[in-house]
Amino acid sequence: MFTQGVDAGAVKQGDFRIELCDFWLKSVPCQHGVGCRFAHGPAQLRKITLRDDLWRTKPCRNFAADKCSYGNRCRFRH
Ligand SMILES: [Zn+2]
Ligand SMILES: [Zn+2]
Repeated sequence: MFTQGVDAGAVKQGDFRIELCDFWLKSVPCQHGVGCRFAHGPAQLRKITLRDDLWRTKPCRNFAADKCSYGNRCRFRH
């Protein structure tokens, strides 16, 4: 099935609002509004400590290959 709109997979709970919105950071109105998958301010950031049990329980394969772009926000262990 074709789902409408942007990549539905990107909105899955796993990476929802774990980082700040680029638009918000630049004080530019975000076209996604309240539906934005990024946080508009620290208050909207999900508490990373409450994340699922996959959080940093596995080594990051990208980091091992020196290609991880998430840095210390990565969900895998570095
Ligand atoms: Zn936004
Ligand atoms: Zn990583």
